[in-house]
Amino acid sequence: LATQFLDRIEKSDLNAFLHVDRALTLAQAAEADARIAAGTATPLTGVPIAHKDIFVTQNWRSTAGSKMLANYVSPFDATVVEKFRAAGMVTLGKLNCDEFAMGSANENSAFGPVKNPWDKSAVPGGSSGGSAAAVAARLAPGVTGTDTGGSIRQPAAFCGITGIKPTYGRVSRYGMIAFASSLDQGGPMAQTAEDCALLLNAMAGFDERDSTSLTPELGGVDEDFTRELGQPLTGLRIGVPKEYFGEGLAKDVEDAVRAALAKYVELGATLVDISLPNTALSIPAYYMIAPAEASSNLSRFDGVRFGHRADGYKDLQDMYRKTRAEGFGAEVKRRIMVGTYVLCHGYYDAYYLKAQKIRRLIAQDFEKVLNGPDAVCDVIMGPVAPTVAWDLGDKSDDPVAAYLADIYTLSTSLAGLPGMSIPVGFGAKDRPVGLQIIGKHFGEAKLLNVAHAYQ
Ligand code: GLN
Repeated sequence: LATQFLDRIEKSDLNAFLHVDRALTLAQAAEADARIAAGTATPLTGVPIAHKDIFVTQNWRSTAGSKMLANYVSPFDATVVEKFRAAGMVTLGKLNCDEFAMGSANENSAFGPVKNPWDKSAVPGGSSGGSAAAVAARLAPGVTGTDTGGSIRQPAAFCGITGIKPTYGRVSRYGMIAFASSLDQGGPMAQTAEDCALLLNAMAGFDERDSTSLTPELGGVDEDFTRELGQPLTGLRIGVPKEYFGEGLAKDVEDAVRAALAKYVELGATLVDISLPNTALSIPAYYMIAPAEASSNLSRFDGVRFGHRADGYKDLQDMYRKTRAEGFGAEVKRRIMVGTYVLCHGYYDAYYLKAQKIRRLIAQDFEKVLNGPDAVCDVIMGPVAPTVAWDLGDKSDDPVAAYLADIYTLSTSLAGLPGMSIPVGFGAKDRPVGLQIIGKHFGEAKLLNVAHAYQ
């Protein structure tokens, strides 16, 4: 199985993988064979997996898509990597992504863009673009991704695969190179919801090495995420937010999403019109909070302990300056500047604090319709992105245009809720369309069943 996928990866021209090492992979495959022979296999033993290059790995380079970490090899494995190894999964290599997961098209990678396997002139989405392209092109049966504001759901939609961003805190961030720590969440991407459920079983759980990992008291218990698969959807109430179907949503995407909603009605669900009134504010709020946290997280890349260090500097200040100027790409620098600005004394209250208050309002929008005395729905459905995948290069020098396309995914992240994307047909230029399904905190098992029923 490993050889089969390695051969496909070798022949692929999508630029989805950043580091493959056949000998390392085959050694893990041999261990899996031995385990199967010894009768100690799990359902995932021997199944190949590839990791977004945000998860650190001991044997493969971990670059985060950045020149800053171009030759970095971690002394330890991320918790997620460790957990998949413990289940006997075989690592195929590391997947391309936007630099430090900042982007929506995988065009911010220092190692070049990834092509969308459905149409090589289109972007695969981002920031987990290499992950989504690898699954869509059958270069890996399952992969990891990370989602801070949509980076699992949007590339899954653009590449016609299934991906789930779990509840914040479900999956350990230990060894996940940090972008915006209060939002970052790892999750699986695969062909189907059933595969995602099996992968999430191995991936989730409390980890004392991550200070925001859900403790057992808070719900961070080992669950079987396949447990609801196959249950009927009779009586399921699906909230359809009017703000997700307004101006800016392309007709082809709307048609595919509405057809999917109609299928859910056939499966026994009812549609309920809802409103998430603060949706539009998710863009300014996210694009202050995420850069603020990023500016702090990325201060560790100073050329001293690890990563790139510039040559020919005069003194320490000059070494920092040259190292960071050379190591970071344009989008990362933009975020660091925005982030430090909104955190500045004198601007903090006007920007950062205000954004945090908006974040709370956005969370309350969801709370009101999903929980509490006036709850009207069990899950929420809508588009993942306003359009299908755009052409490579189309938005690469217009960052604001790319930020605006995140409108339907950011609020879920700001509220810490689980969300997923499943393929529901094709839009313009025969490019895939994804349906977004948003659930309650800890509602992954239900979400996965709702997705599974469609598939
Ligand atoms: N597109 C968003 C950004 O650039 C989300 C990225 C992500 O989820 N990692 O910040």
